[in-house]
Amino acid sequence: MDLIPSFSVDHTRIVPGIFESRLDILGDEAVTTFDVRMKTPNAEPAIGPAAMHTIEHVVATYLRNHSEWKDKLIYWGPMGCLTGFYIIVKGRPAASEMYPIILEAFRHMSEYEGEVSGATPENCGNYLMHDLPMAKWEARRYVEYLTSANRDSMFEYPKTEKLKLEDGQEFFDS
Ligand SMILES: [Zn+2]
Repeated sequence: MDLIPSFSVDHTRIVPGIFESRLDILGDEAVTTFDVRMKTPNAEPAIGPAAMHTIEHVVATYLRNHSEWKDKLIYWGPMGCLTGFYIIVKGRPAASEMYPIILEAFRHMSEYEGEVSGATPENCGNYLMHDLPMAKWEARRYVEYLTSANRDSMFEYPKTEKLKLEDGQEFFDS
């Protein structure tokens, strides 16, 4: 089987950021999937499942009620590897154009107070598995990263570098 595009990126080189991971064309409509990466894969602890679950709920509720984004949002959900989220939107915005709404949503998460939206047995499949304090902590860290890190690596997956060997042979470093 072929690797799906987001798996074919070298995960040893991914740093946190917002990356276009997939583009699907359905008839006349484009649908874009972004990798909202919060952690450097395999190099730092991933996010706890309960905190991921809380971020999923609070950010989904925020996006689904957002005046500008509610009609463009198709999906928001956690990665199984617990290092980030996927957001799927209508159209083909650039990753840098997703930056303001992602930052806004994570700021909202970092300052969130009160009951976790939808954390009830009627609305959730595992309503006791939530961790608001850790969700806020992880969101605050991501906001700090997004507002301070180098923009050059924030919106583009690392390029696979073509290296030249001394004997002139070329190979792709991956
Ligand atoms: Zn839930």
